[in-house]
Amino acid sequence: MTDHVLVINCGSSSLKFAAIDPISGQAALSGLAERLGSPDASLNVRQGDTRQSVSLAEGGHDAAMLAVLQLLDNSGLSAKLSAVGHRVVHGGERFKSSVCIDDVVEAEIDACARLAPLHNPANLIGIRTARACFANLPQVAVFDTAFHQSMPAHAYLYAIPSALYTEHGLRRYGFHGTSHRYVAAEAAAMLGRPLNDCALITAHLGNGASAAAVLDGHSVDTTMGLTPLEGLVMGTRSGDIDPSLVPFIGKALDLPADQVIDLLNRKSGLLGLSGLSNDCRALQTAAAEGHAGAQIALDVFCYRLAKHIAGLSVALPRLDALVFTGGIGENSVWVREQVMKQLGLLGFAIDSAANARCVGGVAGPIHAAGSRTALVVNTNEELLIARDTFALAQS
Ligand code: AMP
Repeated sequence: MTDHVLVINCGSSSLKFAAIDPISGQAALSGLAERLGSPDASLNVRQGDTRQSVSLAEGGHDAAMLAVLQLLDNSGLSAKLSAVGHRVVHGGERFKSSVCIDDVVEAEIDACARLAPLHNPANLIGIRTARACFANLPQVAVFDTAFHQSMPAHAYLYAIPSALYTEHGLRRYGFHGTSHRYVAAEAAAMLGRPLNDCALITAHLGNGASAAAVLDGHSVDTTMGLTPLEGLVMGTRSGDIDPSLVPFIGKALDLPADQVIDLLNRKSGLLGLSGLSNDCRALQTAAAEGHAGAQIALDVFCYRLAKHIAGLSVALPRLDALVFTGGIGENSVWVREQVMKQLGLLGFAIDSAANARCVGGVAGPIHAAGSRTALVVNTNEELLIARDTFALAQS
């Protein structure tokens, strides 16, 4: 059997893991530890069709990693692991691709934490714990930002005093890079074209959402910016706003700026507009039953998405395909149909029957005859992390 890669995605109170065969993409063992550090910390594990839940009672990341180690031992997978791959949110301008982790890289990831204070410290906990628990295995960092490092300056600069970029690194970075990179390659294969001769717009639509213009395998623009707040309307994030809203909201609700940003990250988007839910599927059901808030939330989501896709088209010399992915992109027949309708000027028209077929893991083209090409592609960020990790560990 091929060597497996342990993929780790560490949040501030969670640890997601999967032991993946980097060739087949099969996960032999996977799981999620949640509420770490609290009395009801637990680890939910899946192995084939078997699921089990392990209590970690007050356990933190160390306890979760030791429990994962134990499970890997018990299932005979420890000996098959060839490397550990870590999802890291922010690599700043330092990391333009995945990299083997040593003490210097660890310190540089720490330095990037100033740009992602909520995420990089949590990712580092996972790295440090795994380096201690799996000391004999190579460890690799795969960055959400790295794929977008190919953006030209006119796409990544904000029109603010230039010293804020040169002296403080304040620029657009973009996120979801592993997903955009993975689906771009899958879309090229679906189109039967080499990736290095493809002009694509990839729309990753999950609870977080971003779109990217990908030319010949390289990101040339994307909708997220310095932080994941910029761009599309998301589950709980506002996406683009007039920055003057920050002091206006602060005054209206008597909140300091950091709490306004928290409101824009956690209480806005589909949730804020609908007053009901951040979940697209729940909103579609409610809208069909006449809930006005759910309907307007979905309408704003689709309109803003179509507007951003049209905007990204200026980054490309032509457009070979629009690619839908993520929980919403892979499953919402309704969202895809609205967005394609609003993109009529760009030459898109939907094939309703093909669109209806592409749900629950079914991928494929959804455009009508004579239309510009639109595809549904299933993303797999963990597989891309496993592949990068495996390749770097071999080199
Ligand atoms: P993700 O963050 O990629 O897991 O995507 C989560 C989002 O996908 C949520 O808003 C879900 O409601 C949405 N989603 C999943 N399945 C469907 C579906 N069948 N129809 C509409 N939205 C869906």
